[in-house]
Amino acid sequence: MRVVRTIAQMREALEYMRQGGHGPVGFVPTMGYLHEGHASLLRAAGEKSGTVVMSIFVNPLQFGPNEDFASYPRDEQRDLALAEREGADIVFIPSVEEMYPQPIRTGVSVSSLTTQLCGASRPGHFDGVTTVVSKLFNIVQPDYAFFGLKDAQQVAVLRRMVADLNMNVEIIACPIVREEDGLALSSRNVYLSAEERRQALVLSRSLREVRQALEDGKVRTVNEARELLVSVIAESPLAVIDYAEILTFPDLESLEGGSKLSAAGGEVIMALAVKFGRTRLIDNNVFIPKEAHALV
Ligand code: AMP
Repeated sequence: MRVVRTIAQMREALEYMRQGGHGPVGFVPTMGYLHEGHASLLRAAGEKSGTVVMSIFVNPLQFGPNEDFASYPRDEQRDLALAEREGADIVFIPSVEEMYPQPIRTGVSVSSLTTQLCGASRPGHFDGVTTVVSKLFNIVQPDYAFFGLKDAQQVAVLRRMVADLNMNVEIIACPIVREEDGLALSSRNVYLSAEERRQALVLSRSLREVRQALEDGKVRTVNEARELLVSVIAESPLAVIDYAEILTFPDLESLEGGSKLSAAGGEVIMALAVKFGRTRLIDNNVFIPKEAHALV
């Protein structure tokens, strides 16, 4: 495994791999502090590509002024061990100065898909993501890029960016990896106190309970599903809801509150952002609502 820190070295390493005829390039962009979620992306990349490139870059552009850019957890040695174990061929770890040597005057911005959910509570976040991912795509020129559905809105936004701008890369979405008790893995889980960690289970539990209630026909409309979602989360006294929404996926359009979820006509997303103290956690579930068996 090669570790490279400059764009020039990255291009040279890729050229070497290409000349060796190592097949398609699979790319896994991350912010580091790697866990099993990132590992699953590396494994998916390994299955589809001859060369696996991972980037580790905490991108200042996608953090708001009051967010955790400075304190975002970092552990390069541990990350490199995981990357090597999971089959990365090249790890790209640029500095902020390498990626942004001068104030950036050019950005990539996807409209409409970025105004709701995390886009509403984190203004500018997705512009930072689409801009840095465009830069990384230009540097790495991957055939495939692997992203987790943990950040489902990010997947929707990046797919749209790639389609709108004819970028020559296929975005591959990978399932959410969870702890055994249901908590979605996140680098930010280390911020949680023991009690917050316990109560954070309410995110995955609320999503599961709504899915079950829909299947049982106990909940039918969009409003009923949303109310159940909120009421389950409210059982955890430390949980402060940022959003709990049900939208179409991947277009992220609103659904009529009084209409049956099964009338959505395709995939929907139940998406949550919940704060525990200063830690904001997200989780979601993308599915195709069907008529409950009892109603068919
Ligand atoms: P991050 O380092 O948080 O920017 O995440 C890098 C990539 O890993 C993104 O595509 C995330 O969606 C993905 N990822 C993070 N957590 C998980 C998880 N629990 N399961 C699957 N993918 C994840």
